[in-house]
Amino acid sequence: MSTQDTEATAPLVSLIRGDGIGPEISEATLAMLEAAGAKLRWEEVPAGVAALPTHHDPLPEITLASIEKTKVALKGPLSTPKGTGFRSVNVALRQHFDLYVNLRPAKSIAGVPSRYEKVDIVTVRENTEDIYAGIEHFVGPGRSAAESIAVITRHGSERIVRYAFEYARKHGRKKVSIIHKANILKMSNGLFLEVGKEVAKQFPDIESDDVIVDAACMKLVLMPERFDVIVTMNLFGDILSDLIAGLVGGLGVSPGANLGERAAIFEAVHGSAPDIAGQGIANPSALLMAALMMLEHLGQHDPAARLRAALFRTLADPRTRTRDLGGQANTQAFTQAVIAQL
Ligand code: NAD
Repeated sequence: MSTQDTEATAPLVSLIRGDGIGPEISEATLAMLEAAGAKLRWEEVPAGVAALPTHHDPLPEITLASIEKTKVALKGPLSTPKGTGFRSVNVALRQHFDLYVNLRPAKSIAGVPSRYEKVDIVTVRENTEDIYAGIEHFVGPGRSAAESIAVITRHGSERIVRYAFEYARKHGRKKVSIIHKANILKMSNGLFLEVGKEVAKQFPDIESDDVIVDAACMKLVLMPERFDVIVTMNLFGDILSDLIAGLVGGLGVSPGANLGERAAIFEAVHGSAPDIAGQGIANPSALLMAALMMLEHLGQHDPAARLRAALFRTLADPRTRTRDLGGQANTQAFTQAVIAQL
């Protein structure tokens, strides 16, 4: 265990540094958190390819036990081992802790290259059901067809839509849009929409509407400012949250959180970037932004706000941005620039 803060009252956080660029961006993120005065203690735990030599499992029991205890984790990107039969750690974590919310805020940042300005959309994606429930089989001789079954439950729909409205209320958001395909998938998506509308009625202070997913895609690229909070099922949420990340500059500035009653896991949306691992040029912004969501989750709003302001000032200047965002800085120079802006 490494401790960043010796105060015993500081919250304990499970830390997975990750594979590929994970250790580099984790180190940078920890340094920026410490400089901003975040009160955190870290319990470092193994996962991913990095855990295989010692634990022969990409998600060892010790890691699950740590998150069970701390209830909060910061996770660097993990490489999914290819051709070994190991399950995806990200999916396994979601299932183990029933992390039913995938929260993806996307906001335009001054200076970060992107086609749009003034985008500010939070996607709330259901994380456990739908066509990703894993119910698939081949049909007929010689694998002539295959079927995948989408499972939508009243319980699953209720809790995700309620989360979206409560999030909107808590964060001063004005509107929640329910995205679906209930015109065609009348039962599964129809149930989600029906439950969504019932929940919406319980939040008269929040405006709401529903948009069919194909129309939502067009409206998102034509006039993204029309959207505020989006709530949707697993498959549409997966696709839309990446689409929306693209509206604000892409993977380098896209954080996410997987949340449930038992745990909250914060991560960058991007992967382990093996093509640039070890070169000292990775952009730690997305992991830092995930850490800022974590600080807010833990009630540490002051260091989160100061660090966010320092990050945005650093990203605004091409001399201090990293190369993936058209800048000139390497990981270390970027990290020092953020700290200098605090
Ligand atoms: P990737 O996100 O790792 O990389 C895509 C491209 O973006 C690469 O060119 C990479 O160099 C660049 N990139 C990504 N993050 C960057 C950063 N912080 N700074 C600078 N450049 C960055 O996607 P991939 O190559 O498809 O996947 C690599 C591995 O990551 C795979 O094993 C995949 O399974 C895993 N993965 C993990 C997660 C996760 O842990 N949440 C998510 C996606 C992919």
